[in-house]
Amino acid sequence: MGNNPDATTVIDRYAVMGYPVSHSRSPVIHRLFAVQTGENLQYELLEVAPDKLATAIRQFAKTGGKGLNITLPHKSEVTRLVDDMSERASNAGAVNTLVFRDGEIFGDNTDGVGFLRDLQSNLGLELEDANILILGAGGATRGIIAPLLDVKPKSLLIANRTMSRAKSLAEHFSTQGPVTACRFEDVRNPPVYDLVVNATSAGLKGEMPPYPEDAIGEDTVCYDLSYSMKATPFASWAAEHGAARSVMGWGMLVEQAAESFYLWRGVRPDTAQVLKQLSITA
Ligand code: NAP
Repeated sequence: MGNNPDATTVIDRYAVMGYPVSHSRSPVIHRLFAVQTGENLQYELLEVAPDKLATAIRQFAKTGGKGLNITLPHKSEVTRLVDDMSERASNAGAVNTLVFRDGEIFGDNTDGVGFLRDLQSNLGLELEDANILILGAGGATRGIIAPLLDVKPKSLLIANRTMSRAKSLAEHFSTQGPVTACRFEDVRNPPVYDLVVNATSAGLKGEMPPYPEDAIGEDTVCYDLSYSMKATPFASWAAEHGAARSVMGWGMLVEQAAESFYLWRGVRPDTAQVLKQLSITA
């Protein structure tokens, strides 16, 4: 009695690794998914410095870990630590989900599909033939370009403070669709954009770049990948400049988490219910 290891219930372990990571909502979201679907698992928050990442991942796998979410600043570095990765992760040059299976590490990226699901399923946007403007040319932009081009927009313009980064992304994806690049100040005489996405991290640092006001018409939907319990600076700016809708990235956050959960457990949670539980409307 008591000492029989076979009698011990082993709970599958998952976690998010980042640096810093204390702000992450992933534990709350995955615990809500687990309760909703009746899956028996635990989900932890692990702060891991960049020089400790490889060791921490190996250690987690050895001690019963079944999967990880990887967040800033590790998403790009972790592509070097996987045995295999999905095409969408390779296209994005970043991994946000690890699955430990048969002694191997599989990497995937669920950000792009999460973003698209929020736009299409939750917000009901039709993006075929749309004119799309993305502000910012960092890792998040790289992850959403291919899924956006898959829905056949009329145009996709990447505007960034540092022109060279926008240009190299546009060149990288040029075979996949009509993607071009410019600086913020060169978004002049634009078509009326159907969708303007803020993928800069400026708001997180309390900075306000010169977002191009002419890009917004009365039918424009503005989407800030950043999210906060109160309106982000971009979300406020978009509403003040007459956007038809101004949305923050909560839906993307929950949808990318749902896709990770599905990869790990083979069960798809009801994301609308979780968005409600987080007191955020989709
Ligand atoms: P990143 O790789 O560090 O890129 C940051 C981008 O922001 C770069 O294009 C940078 O321009 C631009 N930027 C930063 N400060 C600026 C300023 N003051 N003025 C103009 N541009 C500025 O970051 P990331 O990984 O792409 O993430 C971007 C945002 O997306 C973050 O806020 C992140 O939280 C959010 N995100 C949300 C989700 C979600 O699930 N909702 C998922 C992924 C990311 P330069 O190239 O000129 O430096």
